[in-house]
Amino acid sequence: MDTGVPRASRFVRAGRPHAIRVSFEFFPPKTAEMEQSLWQAIARLAPLSPNFVSVTYGAGGSTRERTHSTVKRIVAETMLTPAAHLTCVAATRAEIDAVIRAYTEAGVRHIVALRGDPPGGAGERYAPYPGGYRNAADLVAGIKCCGEQCGGLEVSVAAYPEKHPDSPSVAADIDMLKAKVDAGASRAITQFFFENDLYFRYLDRVCARGIDIPIVPGILPVQNFKSTRNFAARCGAAVPAWLAERFENLDDDAATRKLIAAAVAAEQVLDLVDHGVRDFHFYTMNRADLVYAICHLLGLRPHQDQISVRDEARGALPLPGGERVAVRGLGR
Ligand SMILES: Cc1cc2nc3c(=O)[nH]c(=O)nc-3n(C[C@H](O)[C@H](O)[C@H](O)COP(=O)(O)OP(=O)(O)OC[C@H]3O[C@@H](n4cnc5c(N)ncnc54)[C@H](O)[C@@H]3O)c2cc1C
Repeated sequence: MDTGVPRASRFVRAGRPHAIRVSFEFFPPKTAEMEQSLWQAIARLAPLSPNFVSVTYGAGGSTRERTHSTVKRIVAETMLTPAAHLTCVAATRAEIDAVIRAYTEAGVRHIVALRGDPPGGAGERYAPYPGGYRNAADLVAGIKCCGEQCGGLEVSVAAYPEKHPDSPSVAADIDMLKAKVDAGASRAITQFFFENDLYFRYLDRVCARGIDIPIVPGILPVQNFKSTRNFAARCGAAVPAWLAERFENLDDDAATRKLIAAAVAAEQVLDLVDHGVRDFHFYTMNRADLVYAICHLLGLRPHQDQISVRDEARGALPLPGGERVAVRGLGR
């Protein structure tokens, strides 16, 4: 049926007005092998000129050193703008402030402020650490205060279209988001979701509450359906029956799974574009292929000028196919 209305997603191209902007989330690697795949993913995605790339902070601060060294390497070896995740868990205010100062000294100007999960896992009741920040709003205020000495820090926070599991209601959850915005957060990134209607309904409620910062949808390409379902159960995100059906009987068929994952994510992001969304945050799981393909579909292309300098640039990294790409010089 021809409705006569052109779909916005057919016309997106990088560089055009209202073009798509993306950010990519990575986690700090545990082993040398994981470190290599992380940097291959960064090398592949950097030429798409993301708005920023963020690096997660392990539960209970368990990755403090690894998050810090990954972020520092991004500053030192790429032109990307890093955002360091930081939580309130298991640390005093003084300890967290020291981490913030170390980031600012390393040149980081963007922090993703989170409460974090209790040390025993997401099911446990959260209790603030003695002498620590009470919750994410409190942490945002602390970061903004520390940032005053270095010309200011940008702060992003988390948002939950399906409400946070600890929250008694959607309204209480949005009150918490409002507290984070009032404390100085200028962007929220959502937990992943698979039904876009949930996101649009959430935006309406956030707007009605007087919150006017961007609420950037977090997109999770389903690299592994089983682990996505387990993770979703822990963080209160619904996995619809239609999604499970799409991955049915594919446990031993990685190639088809990957095509389905790309199709599912493409359907989701193109529908969001058709409804006016222009910013996307991708949970990359430190892998580039699906995210790169989806970004291509969204009109993003490698930055041509920067590609021409790739061989001379410092920090050239090997890519899986033997192709070499310079990370430094390929970001924004
Ligand atoms: C984009 C994104 C990135 C993330 N990155 C990380 C990361 O790097 N490391 C990590 O460990 N985790 C990360 N998380 C997970 C996050 O730490 C957990 O979801 C955590 O449980 C809540 O953190 P928050 O910042 O949303 O907390 P807050 O905004 O402080 O609270 C979240 C919700 O919980 C409810 N709530 C909080 N405290 C109470 C209470 N005492 N009683 C009742 N309700 C309460 C509120 O309604 C609130 O809406 C991330 C989540 C997202 C969406």
